[in-house]
Amino acid sequence: MDTKILVTGAGGFIGHHLVRRLKADGHWVRGVDLKYPEYESSDANEFEILDLRRYEDCLLAVRGGIDQVYNLAADMGGIGFITANHAAIARNNILINAHMLEASRMQAVKRFLFSSSACVYPQSKQKDAGVTPLREEDAYPADPEPGYGWEKLYAEQLCHYYRQDYRLETRIVRFHNVYGPLGTYEGGREKAPAAICRKVALAPNQSAIEIWGDGEQTRSFMYVDDCVEGLVRLMASEFREALNLGTDRLISINALVDLVSSIAGKELEKKHDRSKPQGVRGRNSDNCKLRAVLGWEPSISLESGLDITFPWIEGELAKSGRIPKQLAVKISA
Ligand code: NAD
Repeated sequence: MDTKILVTGAGGFIGHHLVRRLKADGHWVRGVDLKYPEYESSDANEFEILDLRRYEDCLLAVRGGIDQVYNLAADMGGIGFITANHAAIARNNILINAHMLEASRMQAVKRFLFSSSACVYPQSKQKDAGVTPLREEDAYPADPEPGYGWEKLYAEQLCHYYRQDYRLETRIVRFHNVYGPLGTYEGGREKAPAAICRKVALAPNQSAIEIWGDGEQTRSFMYVDDCVEGLVRLMASEFREALNLGTDRLISINALVDLVSSIAGKELEKKHDRSKPQGVRGRNSDNCKLRAVLGWEPSISLESGLDITFPWIEGELAKSGRIPKQLAVKISA
């Protein structure tokens, strides 16, 4: 019999890609979100608009014998958004996660996967651009990102409590920056790769674009197809502790801008705005446990992923008349 799967946050970036993958694998899928996917329709068998901060809506979401829950719904965004909204993010996400866990227990869900974040890692261990890759056990003693990082770390604990006290099988993934097509690229919630692709696409050749911070802050980036593959593998595994999911190729924001500019065929000057938030100085994923547990790790290169992501964002901007269509086609060809 088909596995019946609920994806929350299915109107969002990772959730939308995950629904497509699960359907392609032959599962029955219900997607739930506050909104429909923005850029194409969902492949889900059912898609429902629900507010998962409300317990009654969570009960509706898991009704009808759901086997597995991928709980991706969250109030989130890039560093500017999460720095400016500590209270709203913490409240909304604690409500979503607490109510989704309880509803899943009440409806006898078999497995529940919680999407945590590398933002749970201590800020004190991320003060250097040449950061030592973060191992799962580095999360304690706790000193996470204010607001968003604290609520993710607490929800990880809540998953452990539900497993220990109620035997709900929980899985916990800690994503390191995910990027790809069909994700938000403007409006304030977009993350660095999408924001950089948008700025590069909109800038005339040999002009300047604004970069937050001095650009020497470092991160690792994972293409969304690798992210979805890792999610499916973790759900199927017997591993119950938190697991990193990301690449371990560290790159500075300045180097990321250069990479996107070269894909666009443009020479651009970087104007650094040091008054803007840049998050921790450096963050990278230690993938030892990921390799050991899943026998796999993300392998799509940043160059290949951006080769798909940049033309998609550029194409969207061209569709809305923000860059001349002919120019966009010429660059992407
Ligand atoms: P996203 O913002 O594109 O998707 C999240 C979705 O949750 C949105 O569509 C939003 O409408 C929905 N949502 C928010 N509040 C809701 C509510 N009350 N009820 C129902 N739906 C609600 O983000 P994403 O990049 O797809 O992230 C998915 C998950 O992965 C999130 O939990 C996020 O915290 C986590 N994560 C993502 C990244 C990344 O780089 N994208 C990194 C670390 C962690």
